[in-house]
Amino acid sequence: MPATPTSRHGCPGDCGETVAQSQLACRACWPLLPAPLRDRINTAYRARRIAPFDAERVTAHRRVLAEALDWYRANPPGRRRS
Ligand SMILES: [Zn+2]
Repeated sequence: MPATPTSRHGCPGDCGETVAQSQLACRACWPLLPAPLRDRINTAYRARRIAPFDAERVTAHRRVLAEALDWYRANPPGRRRS
C-alpha cells in the first residue's frame, strides 16, 4: 500500500498498476511506447526541470504527455504484441 496514495495515478497502459505522479507509466508499460516518443518525453521533462516555470516548456511537456496517452488509448493491452 503506497504511503501517499494521492500522489499516485493509474497507469495509462490499463494494466491496473498505480504509478508515482512524476512518472507517466509503470515499468512494464513505459517501454511499450515507441522509442522516439519516449525520447521526446524525456527531453521535454528535462527541459521543464531546468526551467519549471517556463510556460512554453510546461506546455511542450504536457503536449507530449497527451500524445503518449493517446498512444496508450490507440494501443490497448489486447492489441499489443506480448
Ligand atoms: Zn502499466
